[in-house]
Amino acid sequence: MWQVAGQARAVSLLERSLKQGSLAHAYLFVGPRHVGKMTLARGLAQAVNCSSGEPPCGECGSCQRIALDKHSDVQVIGLTADENGKLRTEIGINQIKEIEHSSSLPPFEGKYKVFIVDGAELLSNEAGNSLLKTLEEPADRVIFVLLTTDDRLLLPTVVSRCQRLELAPLPAGEIEAVLNGRPDIEPQKAKLLARLCHGCLGWALLAAAGDGLLEQRAERINKLLEVVWAGCEERFAYADQLATRFSQRRGLVWEVLDLWLDFWRDLMLVKLGCAGSVTDIALGKALVGMAGDYSLAQIRTFIADIRTAREQLGRNASPRLVLEVLMLGIPERRGATGKTLAAQFSVNYG
Ligand SMILES: [Zn+2]
Repeated sequence: MWQVAGQARAVSLLERSLKQGSLAHAYLFVGPRHVGKMTLARGLAQAVNCSSGEPPCGECGSCQRIALDKHSDVQVIGLTADENGKLRTEIGINQIKEIEHSSSLPPFEGKYKVFIVDGAELLSNEAGNSLLKTLEEPADRVIFVLLTTDDRLLLPTVVSRCQRLELAPLPAGEIEAVLNGRPDIEPQKAKLLARLCHGCLGWALLAAAGDGLLEQRAERINKLLEVVWAGCEERFAYADQLATRFSQRRGLVWEVLDLWLDFWRDLMLVKLGCAGSVTDIALGKALVGMAGDYSLAQIRTFIADIRTAREQLGRNASPRLVLEVLMLGIPERRGATGKTLAAQFSVNYG
């Protein structure tokens, strides 16, 4: 049984190819973080190596070893740490050379070798070009699965060598149902996580397991409130900090901007009298208080500004300039509930 939740289209396509013996040599799974790309990739690795009549069974020795990351023919390649334990910013040529060598050898214990490249957008140019050569001359019984949040950041020649499958976020109701099926998650928490995860079940499960995602979110919301409250200089400093981070890990800045979008969208919904539809239900009444600080027009304009900033960053505009303009465009408050909200939020979230 495939472990990935939802994604029926991608799963049925893979199942069909499996039955017809028409598997591609390389797949590209595209979708937001935590949407299920890795789970689907492991599912494919299980399916091609499964020894039961209904692959992937999830129970045979092969399926179990793959689930535990202990199968010698299934390898995951991603960012590694440098000698100081700091995560590198690129997947380097040496990592690709290693898998190229390994892919030239027959499978050791299974039927197929499967190489999963986690974060294919992080391949260095050199690594991407080297991988391209391997994809152009595919070996038998080898499957590459490239996972990415954004295939526009990959070499087009690499993309064109892969069968592309898009994984879409799931509806909140579907996620809530999955979470409610877990005895360790209370219904109220399931409701909150189903909204906060934006259709990415993996995020909700990690947050429920207490891996720090909720704390990180709380920290970012508190920072947002601090910046909204702050004067020009602090806003500039924050823009600067984000721009520096953008050059190292742009994904983190996307996450921060998405959270800003969530927050201001929630404010707009409250302002329009639709408090029941907000994303962050943990903010509750605090949002109601803060919505009074702004006019609807101010909130709408700023939401448009955040969207514009996101687009411009995606088109490689100067991050410093884009983020400075955004931060200086934070609307002026008519009231003063921001500070109170920050205090309440820390308490409410935990
Ligand atoms: Zn199996």
